[in-house]
Amino acid sequence: MRILLIEDERGLADAIAKRLRQEGYAVDLAFDGEEAIGFADAVEYDVLILDLMLPVRDGMNVLRELRRRGNKTLVLILTARDGLKDKVAGLDAGADDYLTKPFSFEELLARIRALLRRKGLPQNTVLKVGDLEVNPATRSVTRAGRRIFLTAKEYAVLEYLMYNSGLVVSRTQIEEHVWDYDFSGASNIVDVYIRYLRRKIDQDFSPKLIETVRGQGYRLRVPE
Ligand code: CA
Repeated sequence: MRILLIEDERGLADAIAKRLRQEGYAVDLAFDGEEAIGFADAVEYDVLILDLMLPVRDGMNVLRELRRRGNKTLVLILTARDGLKDKVAGLDAGADDYLTKPFSFEELLARIRALLRRKGLPQNTVLKVGDLEVNPATRSVTRAGRRIFLTAKEYAVLEYLMYNSGLVVSRTQIEEHVWDYDFSGASNIVDVYIRYLRRKIDQDFSPKLIETVRGQGYRLRVPE
């Protein structure tokens, strides 16, 4: 899952980004409203975390502009403005959730997970494909009841495949949702991670769940 964090206080932005990355999210940072719109136009993010008091264009302006352009990305407003009026205005302008500073990281993470579930994704917290189960809240993975240990990036790739189970996702889509702009690794990074995942979730089990769709990408097969 890839998040755009729009926050002009660098120290806070870095702290939030660090924590989100520890959770396996890919995170890009925008430090003003104009930059935020540029990023949101260029990449299909899963969630935007939006501060309201920003240089160049303030957060409400960014939100209205994105919605005007038809951008439907989930937006969580994160701001020190805690007046009821501001909350109502933010939600009316198309925000999906609102959290006021100071906040706890645990609550921010829980709200992000809740938003991702709302994104047309299963309402129950545990994602299941066949006998493979993924719990986004704890990031625990089991197959046929056996616990499987994944690195943060392996987990992020698997979770993205789970949210799109049955659908073909391209290497570019996976890369865009799992890695951020700071990433400068090999161009075959997705294939490398799919190989790691196959070793862990498919090698000792049947049926094989991760399918290669030639010329298109990968699909997590839903067994009948
Ligand atoms: Ca600010």
